[in-house]
Amino acid sequence: MLLGRDVRKDFPILNVKVNGKPLVYLDSAASSQKPNAVLESYCRFCEQRYSNVHRGIHTLGEAATGDYEAARGSIAEFIQAPALEGVIFTRGTPESINLVAHSYGKKFVKHGQSIVLTPMEHHANLVPWQLVAKFVGAELRFIPMKSDGTLDLAEARKLIDKTTAMVAVTHASNVLGTINPVGEIVELAHKVGAKAVIDGAQAVPHMPVNLREMNPDFYSFSGHKMLGPTGIGVLYGRPEILNDMDPFLTGGEMIREVYLDHATWNDLPYKFEAGTPAIAEAIGLHAAVRYLQEIGMERIAQMDHYLTTHALEKLASEPDIALYGPLSQRGAVTSFNVKGIHPHDLAALLDREGIAIRAGHHCCQPLMRWLDVQATARASFYLYNTADDVAALIEGVRTARKVLA
Ligand code: PLP
Repeated sequence: MLLGRDVRKDFPILNVKVNGKPLVYLDSAASSQKPNAVLESYCRFCEQRYSNVHRGIHTLGEAATGDYEAARGSIAEFIQAPALEGVIFTRGTPESINLVAHSYGKKFVKHGQSIVLTPMEHHANLVPWQLVAKFVGAELRFIPMKSDGTLDLAEARKLIDKTTAMVAVTHASNVLGTINPVGEIVELAHKVGAKAVIDGAQAVPHMPVNLREMNPDFYSFSGHKMLGPTGIGVLYGRPEILNDMDPFLTGGEMIREVYLDHATWNDLPYKFEAGTPAIAEAIGLHAAVRYLQEIGMERIAQMDHYLTTHALEKLASEPDIALYGPLSQRGAVTSFNVKGIHPHDLAALLDREGIAIRAGHHCCQPLMRWLDVQATARASFYLYNTADDVAALIEGVRTARKVLA
């Protein structure tokens, strides 16, 4: 598998030394590094075409608007979105899900209905639903997980019933790596007349995502985890549902007419894009999507699979290591603990070797309780990682054991 080595030259940060050592970046699930194509596109736009969008009739205003809308079109195609006007730019996954919770949940979920989630949700797809449940008086239900960290679908079939208004599930877990059968879960929701929102933050960067096939009502992801800039993300929503929802944020651009005592709303998607959007960031995300498409999402998924399997095998062959998550059907994260070493100490020691991993609860505190740990170490991979990075991780773990255990 040559992908990692082939593309490394495109990522300038991979030449940086950290603590005097070559950087081994194993924290892409938190945020990915950026290729030259994204950096150049962002800079070129700011240097040559920058202006606000949808306002000016001057040349730059039209150029910027064209570029911004081209980004939307390309992203819609990337995720096979059934409708372009359903593709809303947000600041990222949390804002996307908060939008759905506030504008759909608080209006349409009724007292006594249920919201079905899983214990593996990132706080971004849990806390907004806790607030909705409290606000309207709805019940939160959780699809149980089997011991390997996959969802118990037989239980899901029982839990998702006529009381269910919303099913909110992550496509891929940022801790366990579990890839959930979201198509099936969406179907279960639709069978009982519920809506389904899928958190795609860990899926869109790593695998082909086809919303036409999956058929969710809402789908969200973040640009910075897929080689794009920070501060830009996407919510896809079914236009007929978005049309019935009230705005989330108000301000310029999202209105049609404003009077002293009331206002009317712009068409989709602008109704949900209040104020000046993250223009250069959307253009950077467009460049990221082009870059990923040139390599091919199938190839990236294969490379992720190869590296994750390799890392799991290597970690499993070390003594006293607990590994979390299923053995197959998983994304590009490996969460683990080394007996007798706190994950924060492990991460600090690896950092001295230039190896960046994440340690903590990964914004999944309920899942940590389910695993019966306070925290885990997590190495996550992306297209620029290689088997050498896995070897460096294993060597680092061995050193840590000598120093810390
Ligand atoms: N959902 C999942 C599954 C995630 O892994 C993350 C981040 O790690 C988020 C949501 C939050 O996204 P962001 O990092 O853009 O705030």
